[in-house]
Amino acid sequence: MSVNFWEVKSLSEMTPQEWESLCDGCGRCCLNKLEDEDTGEIYFTNVTCKLLDINKCRCTDYENRKVSMPDCMILSVENTEALEVMPSTCAYRLLQLGEPLPEWHPLITGRKESVAEANISIAGKVVSEDNIHYEQLPEHLINWVTTK
Ligand code: SF4
Ligand code: SF4
Repeated sequence: MSVNFWEVKSLSEMTPQEWESLCDGCGRCCLNKLEDEDTGEIYFTNVTCKLLDINKCRCTDYENRKVSMPDCMILSVENTEALEVMPSTCAYRLLQLGEPLPEWHPLITGRKESVAEANISIAGKVVSEDNIHYEQLPEHLINWVTTK
């Protein structure tokens, strides 16, 4: 019987390849967020980082993203601050919380299309920050992506 690595390894024990395979490509972490200054609550908008290809949900400068987009929160085991503001569906966040991968995750289904079929992908539902003014962000708040 084969053993699934994500069920037996902690995030810090995974190989770089295993770590990368956890990303379902949903694009949700590339949405702009707003923070309630009073409560610290994080709210997502449907406005993406300008470096995201909104049709393919891919970063167009992934290798250099920290240079070209200093605000990009790069996930790592050590970067717990970034893990805490990941969407509730994100595999890294789920595993960090000791929860299983969802049934639509590509590692479970063997198909990356299952992310869009489960309505988790942001493709087709978002606008790029290139096309709005920053002051308009509050008008773009959404409730279909949350940290909880
Ligand atoms: S939210 Fe998580 S699973 Fe989705 S694209 Fe970002 S890192 Fe990958
Ligand atoms: S730089 Fe790339 S990975 Fe980072 S938020 Fe923007 S599109 Fe996403």
